[in-house]
Amino acid sequence: MIFARNELLEYISYMTIQKDYDLTNLNTFQIKAKAKFFSEIEKEQDFLELIKTLEFRNNQKLFLGGGSNILFTKDFDGIVILNKLKGIEILKEDDENVWIKAMGGEMWNDLVLFSVQKGYWGIENLSLVPGTVGASPVQNIGAYGIELKDVLENVEAYEVSTGSKKVFSRG
Ligand SMILES: Cc1cc2nc3c(=O)[nH]c(=O)nc-3n(C[C@H](O)[C@H](O)[C@H](O)COP(=O)(O)OP(=O)(O)OC[C@H]3O[C@@H](n4cnc5c(N)ncnc54)[C@H](O)[C@@H]3O)c2cc1C
Repeated sequence: MIFARNELLEYISYMTIQKDYDLTNLNTFQIKAKAKFFSEIEKEQDFLELIKTLEFRNNQKLFLGGGSNILFTKDFDGIVILNKLKGIEILKEDDENVWIKAMGGEMWNDLVLFSVQKGYWGIENLSLVPGTVGASPVQNIGAYGIELKDVLENVEAYEVSTGSKKVFSRG
């Protein structure tokens, strides 16, 4: 396969795995806990590289967002994966609806601000809910009479065991 230079850069993964990683600043209770292994995902390719490693395959896994719904009671004897995938884009729009795609590493409130500033309504009641876009469907975040499920179209996710992409539709 031949890549143009900027395409090639997209595919290079700088994924690293760190040992005995301090999680104090990655959970909102600021509990002092460590992870046996830790890796940050900045590009989708990083994740595809990570899942091939023995550190990933041979350990229990914890996918971490903003750490606002996690209480560590001891060190985590496995690998913590921090999703830092960024991006918010408008996919399409008609007279009544707009479809917005947001990556899991975005902060949830940044997505709310993006929508409100463009004059779109639907998730404004969920403003200031702490945490990430990636955690929002896991938790089905809700506030003031609205839940994420009311506005969610689908979730794209990677299957951990195979690295294949899956799309989960709301209904
Ligand atoms: C002060 C405060 C106010 C809050 N108010 C509300 C509220 O009004 N409404 C409400 O619904 N919640 C509220 N919460 C709870 C919290 O904001 C939500 O649960 C939020 O979705 C957690 O996001 P997070 O990124 O911090 O997730 P984390 O705490 O990091 O993770 C939560 C769960 O999601 C999983 N997860 C995270 N990211 C991913 C990912 N990318 N892929 C797969 N799994 C993932 C984790 O493994 C874990 O099981 C509040 C919390 C606090 C501390």
